[in-house]
Amino acid sequence: MGNARNSKLRCLPSVDKLLKTEAASSLTERYGREATTDALRAVLTETRAELHVGAATPPTPEHIAQMAGALLARKSRSTIFPVFNLTGTVLHTNLGRAILADAAVEAAVEAMRNAVALEFDLDTGRRAERDDHIKGLLCALTGAEDATVVNNNAAAVLLALNTLASGRQAIVSRGELIEIGGAFRMPDIMARAGAQLIEIGTTNRTHPSDYRSAITAQTGVILKVHTSNYVISGFTAQVRPAELAAIAADANVPLLNDLGSGTLVDLTGYGLQAEPTVREAVTHADLVTFSGDKLLGGPQAGFIVGRQELIEKINRNPMKRALRIDKIRLAAIEATLRLYSDPDRLCQRLPTLKFLTRPQKDIADQAERLLPPVADQLGPAFSVEQCVCQSQIGSGALPLHTLASAGLRIRALERASAIERLSAKLRGADRPIIGRIEDGALVLDLRCLTDEPEFLSSLSGVTMDPLIETAPDHRQ
Ligand SMILES: *Cc1c(COP(=O)(O)O)cnc(C)c1O
Repeated sequence: MGNARNSKLRCLPSVDKLLKTEAASSLTERYGREATTDALRAVLTETRAELHVGAATPPTPEHIAQMAGALLARKSRSTIFPVFNLTGTVLHTNLGRAILADAAVEAAVEAMRNAVALEFDLDTGRRAERDDHIKGLLCALTGAEDATVVNNNAAAVLLALNTLASGRQAIVSRGELIEIGGAFRMPDIMARAGAQLIEIGTTNRTHPSDYRSAITAQTGVILKVHTSNYVISGFTAQVRPAELAAIAADANVPLLNDLGSGTLVDLTGYGLQAEPTVREAVTHADLVTFSGDKLLGGPQAGFIVGRQELIEKINRNPMKRALRIDKIRLAAIEATLRLYSDPDRLCQRLPTLKFLTRPQKDIADQAERLLPPVADQLGPAFSVEQCVCQSQIGSGALPLHTLASAGLRIRALERASAIERLSAKLRGADRPIIGRIEDGALVLDLRCLTDEPEFLSSLSGVTMDPLIETAPDHRQ
C-alpha cells in the first residue's frame, strides 16, 4: 500500500516540467509566469495531499494545468462585476445605487482615456475651476445662484456645516436628527464639522418659536434635514419651509437644507409620488445639499447649491479640496445633467427613471415569459409562480411609497431551508441573481431586469440537485 502510494507521488511532474508543457505556457501567456507557477504549485500540493489519503490515480500534466487554469481564472476575476438586482429596490445602496445613462458612461470613458480641460480655460489658456463644467447646468436646473460638487451628499453636509458653523452652533429640530445607513448620523457629522449641535423642539413637534428662541449670537446655521428614510405621523407639527426661511432671514442666519435624495424634476409628471424638488427647496433656503446617485440617477456625488457668497465661502474651505471629485465622475455628472434639458426623453435615457416608471403590465409580461424556463431550470423541488409585488425606490427616497411591480415567487416544496440554499446558489451564478426572501419564499422582482438572455444563461449555469433539495430536513 505504502509503496503504491509513493510510486504515485513520484509520478507527479515537477513545477519546472509542468511549466514547459504547452497547456502551462498558454497560462503563462495569459496570467504571467509568477502567478502560473504559484497556481501549479498549489495544485500539486493539493494533489499530493489527496494521494496521501488514498486518491486512486495521479492526474496527468494536462489535467494539472487545467486545474491551475481554473484556479487562476477564479483568482483573477474582478470582485466588481455585474449582478442582477432583482431585489425590488431600484436605488439599492449595497448594489451601487443608480445605473448610469449611456451618455454618462461614454463621457466617463472619454475622460478616462484622454487628457481633458478639467481646470483649464481653452479660451485664455489659463487655469479654471473644475466646478465650472457643471455650475451652469446646476444653476439652470435648480434656479440657484451658484453651485459646487463634492464626493457625496454626506461630504456636502459636512463641508457646508464646517464652513458655516465650525466653532459655532447649529440648530436642528429633534424630529430631523437622522441616521442614514453606513454610519451617517447627524450628531456625529455635526461634531466632525466642529459645530455644536443645538437640538430644539421634540421628536414629533417643532414650532417657529423653538427656532426663534434658540437663535443666539453664536448661531452659525439653521439646518433643515429631509427625513428621507422615515416618517413621523400622528400628532405632529413642523415649521413650513417659507416660515423657517423668514425666521432665518430675520435673524440673518443662513438656512441649510439637506434634501438627501432630491430630484431635479417634478416626479408627479412621471406618475410617481411627489418628492421635494431642488428648485422648490432653493426658494426657501440659502443652501441646499443633495445626492448625485439617488433620484438624480448619476454617479456618486454631493451637490451644494444656493447663494453665491456662501458657495464661494465653501470653495475657500480647505476641506473642499479634500472632498473634490475626479474628472471621470465630473464628466458623467455633466452628461447626466444634460439629459434633464430634454424632459420628454428623460424617461428613456435615464435608467433610474426608466425603472421607476416601468409599467407593471410590462413587468408582468416579462414574468409570464420567464416563468416556464425558470421553473424548468429549478426542477421539481421548487414551485415557481408569477406574482404581484411591490418595488421600492430605495436610498431613502419616499420610504413609504411603493411601486406596483411583478415577478416570480419561488417556494421550496419539501423543506423550507432549501430556499436559502437556492438563493445562495443564485448569488453564485455567473452573473449573480439577487432577489429577496419574503415569507419564506424567494421573490425575484423583475422591474430592473433588462437583459433577459443573459439572465437565462446565468440561470442555466446554476446546477440544482433534486435529491439533496428534496431530502428530508435533518433538523427537527
Ligand atoms: C442619503 C442621504 C444623505 C447621504 O447622502 P450620500 O450621497 O449617500 O452621501 C444625507 N442626508 C440625507 C437626508 C439623505 O437622504
